[in-house]
Amino acid sequence: MEVAPRYNPRPMSGQHQRLPLEVDPIRLATREEHLQGTIPLKQMKRLINALSSKEGEVYIDVEFSVDINRVVILAGEIKTETKLICQRCMKEMDLPIALDFQLAFVRSEAEMERLPEGYEATLIDNTTMMLSDIIEDEILLALPPIPKHLDDSCSSDAITEAWNSQQTPEPNTESVERENPFDILASLKTDK
Ligand SMILES: [Zn+2]
Repeated sequence: MEVAPRYNPRPMSGQHQRLPLEVDPIRLATREEHLQGTIPLKQMKRLINALSSKEGEVYIDVEFSVDINRVVILAGEIKTETKLICQRCMKEMDLPIALDFQLAFVRSEAEMERLPEGYEATLIDNTTMMLSDIIEDEILLALPPIPKHLDDSCSSDAITEAWNSQQTPEPNTESVERENPFDILASLKTDK
């Protein structure tokens, strides 16, 4: 009997490969698995809540391994383009993210405490983890708590503009307050 494959792994251009949704860090570390490819930003719900656009992809180039301290490691780089709202001028800003990271996997709090200095640890609560969750956590950690333009695009004009737009009443409030012509007509009639 022939079993249909769950999906057809189609090689992407270059060295890109189809990334697994779930990973088993311990098993992949023993094989020194190298993963390279992209994950759509849309798959990272917590992250897109913090962004002003959910369009785009996260490029990853990472490798699982067991290091000299026999710790299971995921190391590599993450690159993406994000859009956030500048908290000074309230306009959209681009924030490119390029991270080099190294993450140690531990199975318990006790194991986490035994880690040598300098490790950034993450707890494996199941055998497998969502790859996008691991990557998403790293990007969330890299986002500035209060995003602000770092260049000239955060001009004082833009600040004044944002301030003025907060001061002027909403256009539809104005139309609600405007008197109904029939009411005026009615009051003219009663005045007679
Ligand atoms: Zn700004």
